[in-house]
Amino acid sequence: MNEKLKKLALKLEDLIEYYDVPQQVYDELLELVAKQPDYFKMIGPENIIKLTFLIYSHKKTGNFELGDKMLNESMFLFMIYSEGNNHREGCIDCGGEGQIDCQECDGTGEVPCDECDGSGEVTCDTCNGSGVDPENEDESCWDCNGAGNRTCPQCHGSTDETCPECHGRRLEICPTCDDTGQIETDAWDYSVATILSWDQELISSSIENENTLLPAMSYADFNYNDEKFIFIQTYDEDFMEFKKGFEANEIYCFGHDDSPTTFLKNNLISVDIPWKNLRDYE
Ligand SMILES: [Zn+2]
Ligand SMILES: [Zn+2]
Ligand SMILES: [Zn+2]
Ligand SMILES: [Zn+2]
Repeated sequence: MNEKLKKLALKLEDLIEYYDVPQQVYDELLELVAKQPDYFKMIGPENIIKLTFLIYSHKKTGNFELGDKMLNESMFLFMIYSEGNNHREGCIDCGGEGQIDCQECDGTGEVPCDECDGSGEVTCDTCNGSGVDPENEDESCWDCNGAGNRTCPQCHGSTDETCPECHGRRLEICPTCDDTGQIETDAWDYSVATILSWDQELISSSIENENTLLPAMSYADFNYNDEKFIFIQTYDEDFMEFKKGFEANEIYCFGHDDSPTTFLKNNLISVDIPWKNLRDYE
């Protein structure tokens, strides 16, 4: 093990408060990275991972033997799993808004008055539209002044009335997604995680079952503060439509690498993920 790195571990270890499990040391180191990104960029992501083990080891045991051993036996494992939640997508019919133009009024908020059919006038019922006073044929109708029509009492001559469906709001709830703006698909949401393990049992069960439908471990054992591995990175946003076969709440291994390419991006360590293996999954 690099002597320079051990000296650096001794220098940094006082800044690390929690060290029950290596994950805590790793997380605290990343906090330091966020505070001094330029400094840690020079140290490099690979060495930050190594420092995790060295600091953990020295804090726990007072020397670097444990850390050296863990590092020598460690393996990056690429895991995929799902909690069985159906993937949701934005509703196409309403553009994710949850509401669409009111179908009754085409989004105008108004419909033609049904009393006067949109003409704004109704036949005068005193003269039945003749314009003649029914009691005196020589006189024009007193009610409509001889016009035979009167202003429509419902729309007051405006020819339109407020749409009874949307009450003038111009919108109605999207029937496709029922106001949520999203629709649930049959496929699941999956998460991908890169872990670094030094536990030989976990490593061998992962590699044995790699790229099969046999899980490497159960979700219940996939704890953030586990003593068998560190979460290096997780991807929750990635939706992958898989052929059926995965069980919910089981952890499947789709690759392993003892020295993958690592990057320091946005103050987080990321590892080259073998996405190809996922695409080829049977
Ligand atoms: Zn009249
Ligand atoms: Zn009317
Ligand atoms: Zn309407
Ligand atoms: Zn919708």
